[in-house]
Amino acid sequence: MAAKNNTVMDKLISLSKRRGFIFQSSEIYGGINSCYDYGPLGIELKKNIKELWWKSMIYERDDVEGLDASILMHPKVWEASGHVEGFTDPMVDCRECKSRFRADQIDTSKPCPVCGNRDTFTEARQFNLMFKTFMGPVEEDASIVFLRPETAQGIYVNFHNVREASRRKLPFGIAQIGKAFRNEITPGNFTFRTREFEQMEMQYFVRPEEDETWFEYWKEARMNWYKRLGLQDNKLRFHEHGPNDLAHYAKKAYDIEYEFPFGWQEIEGIHNRTDFDLSRHMEYSGKDLRYFDDQTKERFVPYIIETSAGCDRILLTCLIDAYDEEEDRVVLRLAPAIAPFKVAVFPLVKRDGMPELAKKITDDLRGDYRVFYDESGSIGRRYRRQDEAGTPFCVTIDGETLENNTVTIRERDSMEQIRMEISKIRPFLAEKLK
Ligand code: ATP
Repeated sequence: MAAKNNTVMDKLISLSKRRGFIFQSSEIYGGINSCYDYGPLGIELKKNIKELWWKSMIYERDDVEGLDASILMHPKVWEASGHVEGFTDPMVDCRECKSRFRADQIDTSKPCPVCGNRDTFTEARQFNLMFKTFMGPVEEDASIVFLRPETAQGIYVNFHNVREASRRKLPFGIAQIGKAFRNEITPGNFTFRTREFEQMEMQYFVRPEEDETWFEYWKEARMNWYKRLGLQDNKLRFHEHGPNDLAHYAKKAYDIEYEFPFGWQEIEGIHNRTDFDLSRHMEYSGKDLRYFDDQTKERFVPYIIETSAGCDRILLTCLIDAYDEEEDRVVLRLAPAIAPFKVAVFPLVKRDGMPELAKKITDDLRGDYRVFYDESGSIGRRYRRQDEAGTPFCVTIDGETLENNTVTIRERDSMEQIRMEISKIRPFLAEKLK
């Protein structure tokens, strides 16, 4: 891996635009800070990441149910959760250049990092990160609602609904993928910290005495998922929250961190949230959310083990981890399971019936695989385009194909080419993309 240096982010941002992974939102109007749009390749990559997560959370197990709660919720939810009072970051302004910073991320005894002046910072003020809007036509305090800052609360308030509808007994989990909004003071590092993002959260409800066992279980399970995603082992680590940075609701918390070009940073949090959330919702809603064990006849508030990941941040991690430069090519070594296109098909030249045969092969594969057909430019350029898009396999139809029904399959990472019969393409891909 030769390319991991300080400019890797700039190169990735430009590749993302060039190939259609990620665009600046509202670009023709000059863009809007910290909002991004996923292009044709980006949306495929994102969908694949979400599918892998959903599959590992729901289809491969028998103890987690899915949910899709609405973004706007009753305002009392955010009082109960502690967000109205406590979802704040300390903020300071530079009086000289008006730049704004998170007080916990800079040293205010040093000069302002933007204008270089000393002693120009205001006192730190607490700033609530929730976006407010109004429900209905009247803009008054009584109609204020919030854009959810996390998907978790939608799961807690539906604990009883899901448990009853699916006839679940403890332990079981509820998983959800959805948008969350935070009015971050300092968004940045491309899509690493944005104000609108997608979360993939799973809340696992357990007996209080089993919390530690399940916490350890989920911690390991989630780390293994990132390895399955193809991320390099040596770029992943756990970070345990010390007593000073534990959230108010957490008994224990670990972050899974990745080594970005800008340092080790969180990609997912695993938290033991105890009975905090359900107890608070019981208190604020007046509804009994306890679990009744029909064997022991006990009634109690379950503990919650949370796994909370950011989909956009994981997508960025996958791009960074996969980005590589060789002497004469840029290659995205994405795991085949998440690559936007699984295979590209090329006729070597635009004559002698090669395009027709290549199109037929493309059509045969379409439906099972996202296939890309390309007949423009030299074959070398076509391979390079697919390398940048992360396409793991390219099939080329050449003169020999017309004689003996064989094609070449080129593998992205090794650039090795093997010859095989047309009828073998499908089983080959099935095996490699498993
Ligand atoms: P930080 O301390 O960096 O603000 P956090 O600890 O508040 O993050 P969590 O509330 O644990 O983050 O959120 C869970 C996950 O959601 C994070 O690990 C991250 O992947 C994602 N996430 C959180 N905030 C953002 C954001 N502003 N932009 C993109 N992803 C985010």
